[in-house]
Amino acid sequence: MSKIPDEFYNLIYLMEESGEVTQACSKIMRFGPDAMRKNTQTTNRELLEEELGDVLCLVDRLIDAGMISSKNVEKARKAKAKKLALWENSAKK
Ligand SMILES: [Mg+2]
Repeated sequence: MSKIPDEFYNLIYLMEESGEVTQACSKIMRFGPDAMRKNTQTTNRELLEEELGDVLCLVDRLIDAGMISSKNVEKARKAKAKKLALWENSAKK
């Protein structure tokens, strides 16, 4: 079995955390944001917040490791906000 290069570990963690964000979104849509999670003291909203924090941590790590550029991430964030605003405005017409 081949060894995974060290620089890929953050990408693997990001994939896993992104899946957990997907699952948290699904729980909110199925049961609501304020529903308590089974066998925990937390809500589905808190789960989503935790998983988004995990993803942001991995984004920071990829930037710190030089895998991605914070400037390009910020550029993409602004472009996406603009695109969503345009889409939402055209959907209202
Ligand atoms: Mg997580």
